[in-house]
Amino acid sequence: MKNVRVRFAPSPTGPLHIGGVRTALYNYLFARKNNGTMILRIEDTDQARFVEGAEKYIVESLAWCGIEFDESVTVGGPHAPYRQSERKELYKQYSDQLIASGNAYYAFDTPEELEQKRKEAEAEKKIFTYNAESRKYLCNSLTMSKQDVDKYLNEDVPHVVRFLIPEKTEVLMYDIIRGKVVVQTESLDDKVLFKSDGMPTYHLANIVDDHLMEISHVIRGEEWLPSLPLHILLYQAFGWEAPEFAHLPLLLKPDGNGKLSKRDGDRLGFPVFPIDWIDPVSGEKYTGYRESGYYPDAFVNMLALLGWNPGTEQEIFSMDELIQVFSLDRVGKSGSKFDPEKTKWFNHQYLIKQSNEAVANDFNVILKEKSIEIKTEKMVKIVSLVKERVPFVKDLWNETYFFFEAPQSYDEQVVKKRWNENSAQQMTDLATKLSAIEAFETVTIDQTLKEWIEQNQFGMGAIMNALRLLLVGAAKGPHLGDIMEIIGKEETIDRINSGINKL
Ligand code: GLU
Repeated sequence: MKNVRVRFAPSPTGPLHIGGVRTALYNYLFARKNNGTMILRIEDTDQARFVEGAEKYIVESLAWCGIEFDESVTVGGPHAPYRQSERKELYKQYSDQLIASGNAYYAFDTPEELEQKRKEAEAEKKIFTYNAESRKYLCNSLTMSKQDVDKYLNEDVPHVVRFLIPEKTEVLMYDIIRGKVVVQTESLDDKVLFKSDGMPTYHLANIVDDHLMEISHVIRGEEWLPSLPLHILLYQAFGWEAPEFAHLPLLLKPDGNGKLSKRDGDRLGFPVFPIDWIDPVSGEKYTGYRESGYYPDAFVNMLALLGWNPGTEQEIFSMDELIQVFSLDRVGKSGSKFDPEKTKWFNHQYLIKQSNEAVANDFNVILKEKSIEIKTEKMVKIVSLVKERVPFVKDLWNETYFFFEAPQSYDEQVVKKRWNENSAQQMTDLATKLSAIEAFETVTIDQTLKEWIEQNQFGMGAIMNALRLLLVGAAKGPHLGDIMEIIGKEETIDRINSGINKL
């Protein structure tokens, strides 16, 4: 394969949606797999859509995911600058070149005139496009005399440069994921390449930069497939070799109906952004995966499998493993439904894989906020007992609070079911029995309990459930012997006695 150079080329028009992160990820995996170069280029030529903070957000999000760039706005590189607004001066000559070669033309139609055309077409239930037909009667350098065009240009009459779509031609394209694609030029319009504000449009800047930056493969979202014929025609017009293209399928809503949108997240209760985003204008907040407690590698693992499959049953992949096995020919053609439950499942798998010490360390942050201090050793033990039960570290509190505080109340349902006229006496006797244990550890506690229950011919379930109610306040939690060892003898006896009093 030729020297692989790929780029992720976001426009800083808002926060990066997870679909965008997936595009960056596939570019990254492809680059690393093929010993290639990964480039981050910021496409900010559309000043009307520029959003403050979006570029910083993109950079921070990708860094959190572990997606690294060899050339970028932050690390620089041989083709710097990597921000299109800083390359502004460069594009005009290419626009001029296309005019000179007859592949583009000046158009002087005002926005009002074009709006008028649109309205007229609409009234006839048609759609106005600036194309091979309409350009013949609009105000442009194809219909005007050379003198008039020169005069307009000299007088700086506002104008744009449009690409001249060749008439009645077939554009033949090859996409790595979709295979051969053919489009007739009748269906294309003469897109603007250069705007009246002196800025190139996305199409021109994108092609020029991909060429200058020696991009070998363009891997991007399917929404850009309709632009591909124009891009291919642009490469032909310049006489440049086009890169290879791979258009990634869309990420769909969980029900499969339509593209996953930024509103779906908070509406359906899962994040669609990698990290938190606060809209600089409206102040509206969108939740991120990072802040929701996801591990970046779990997030990346989940995203990798949304559209690509390894061809095996394996689901858990580290970034290094992904790099080894990734290939574009295992990317599917159809959209992938986003599955919020599966996403949590991935985090759960990664949480289980962490060492108890690491999870305890993360959990400690939450405990500190609650002013709870506890020995590391104990924390690690607690974590080991409940780790399997939660998808997120933040959920640990709900599974462990009774290790840190005595019950404030008792679950009424459980009381009704598990507390009877004999319970108080039984629990009092049990407390006496437990307080006699010297080495208050799970094994000895279990042994004592078992013997005492057998001697008295009590039901194991009845006793254990009542005891759990007194120690935990509810019908939940890990093995009782473990709970008692961790909270200690004194606390165990206290909880039993105060529970008897309250019930
Ligand atoms: N700037 C475009 C975007 O925001 C890049 C499309 C492409 O990769 O060509 O998605």
